[in-house]
Amino acid sequence: MVEGNCQAYEEGKSKICAEKAGGYDRKIMMCISLVRSAKNVYRLRWGYRKKPAQNSQHKDRRARGKIPVIADLPVGENMEDHMVALPEVDIDQPLSVQPKVADGLLSTLRYKLFGTGYYTTPGLTEAIAAFRLDKKQKSPDVQYQFFSSQFRFWDDVWFFQNVDAKYRKEVYPKSGETDRPGHGFSICVMAPNHPKSRGTIRLRTKDPFDYPVIQPNYLEHQDDVDSIVNGLHLLNRFVKTKAMKAIGARMSDSKKPLSFCAQHKYATDAYWECYARHLAITVFHPCCTCRMGAATDKDTVLDPELRVKGIAGLRVADASSFHHITAANINAPVIMLAEKAADLIRGIDSVKHLRKS
Ligand SMILES: Cc1cc2nc3c(=O)[nH]c(=O)nc-3n(C[C@H](O)[C@H](O)[C@H](O)COP(=O)(O)OP(=O)(O)OC[C@H]3O[C@@H](n4cnc5c(N)ncnc54)[C@H](O)[C@@H]3O)c2cc1C
Repeated sequence: MVEGNCQAYEEGKSKICAEKAGGYDRKIMMCISLVRSAKNVYRLRWGYRKKPAQNSQHKDRRARGKIPVIADLPVGENMEDHMVALPEVDIDQPLSVQPKVADGLLSTLRYKLFGTGYYTTPGLTEAIAAFRLDKKQKSPDVQYQFFSSQFRFWDDVWFFQNVDAKYRKEVYPKSGETDRPGHGFSICVMAPNHPKSRGTIRLRTKDPFDYPVIQPNYLEHQDDVDSIVNGLHLLNRFVKTKAMKAIGARMSDSKKPLSFCAQHKYATDAYWECYARHLAITVFHPCCTCRMGAATDKDTVLDPELRVKGIAGLRVADASSFHHITAANINAPVIMLAEKAADLIRGIDSVKHLRKS
C-alpha cells in the first residue's frame, strides 16, 4: 500500500514508483510480510545495522553489497517464531476421524442431504488449550491444539513438509506399515510461546531479486527447548488420566520409543528434549524483523507509530513490526496492527468508544 500518488507497489518497482511520485518525500506503507519488509527496507537503502547482532551467525552483508548506510537500524534482527511438536496418541476404540470415511461419498451425501457429519466439524481442530507451565511468565507459554484424527493419515497437511523425511516414516507410519491401531488423535504442542532464541533475515547479495538468507536459530536458547519438554510432559500426564485410559489412550511411541531417541529412558526430560530437537518444526509465526519500540530504543527499527526511524515517509505494518511475538497465534494480532496503522494514517481513533475510560 502506498500513500500519495503512487497506486501500486510491485516487486522491484518501489524505487521507480517513489521517484515518479516526486521523490522520496512520498509516504510509503510496507505490509508485505516479515521477510519481504525486512528485505526491502534493507535493499531500498533505507537502513540496516552497521554491525550484526552478536548472536548472528552471518557476517555483515554490507561488505558484499556495498550498500550505503542512511539510517543505522537493526533491520532483519530479532526474528522470533513459535515452534510445534506433533505427537500422536493411539486409542483402542473407533472414536476418531478416519480420512477414508470423512472424505467419502457417504460423508458428502450426509452433508448435502442433512447438513450433518464430518463436513460440519471445524476441520479436525476440535479444541485449543493454553497453559502457563513456566510460572515466571505472565501469559501462557504452551498451547495445545487437539485433532480428532492422526496426522499420519493426512500426509498432505502443510506442516508435514517441514518434518525431516528421515524420521517421518517412523513417527507417522501408514496403517500397512505398523501394528499400531487405526484410531487415535494428534496434538499440536505449540511452544515456546515466549521464545528466547533470535533469528535473522539478511540480504544474500546486492541483487534486489536475490532471495534473502533466513537464519531462524530455532532452539538456540535452552529455555525454548525446556518449554517444549514441559509441554510434552503435561501431554503425557493428560494421556494417563482416567478418562483417557478408559478409551485405551497411550502416546504412540510409549510401547516402542523412537529409534533416534532410544538411548534415553522413555518420557524423561532427555527423551523429550531429543524428541523436540528432532521433530519440532516452525508453526509459521515468524515476526519482529522490523520491530517497533520507543524512539530511544536502539534495538528497534520503527517508532511506536510504525514509522521507520530516521527515514521520512516510510511505515511498516505487518508481522515484522511486532516488538515481541504474541503468546498465541499471531494472525489476529497482525490484523489488529493493520487496523491501528489505518487509524494512524487517517489520524483517527476508530476504537475510542470501545476503550475503558
Ligand atoms: C502455512 C501457514 C499457516 C499459518 N497458520 C496460521 C494459523 O493457523 N493461525 C495464525 O494465527 N497464523 C497462521 N499463520 C501465520 C499468519 O498467516 C501470518 O503471521 C500473517 O499472515 C502475517 O501477516 P503479514 O501481513 O505480515 O504477511 P502476509 O499475510 O504474508 O501478507 C503479505 C502480503 O504482501 C503481499 N506482497 C508481498 N510482496 C509484495 C510485493 N513486492 N508487492 C506487492 N505485494 C506483495 C503478499 O502477496 C501478501 O498478500 C500461518 C502462516 C503460514 C505460512
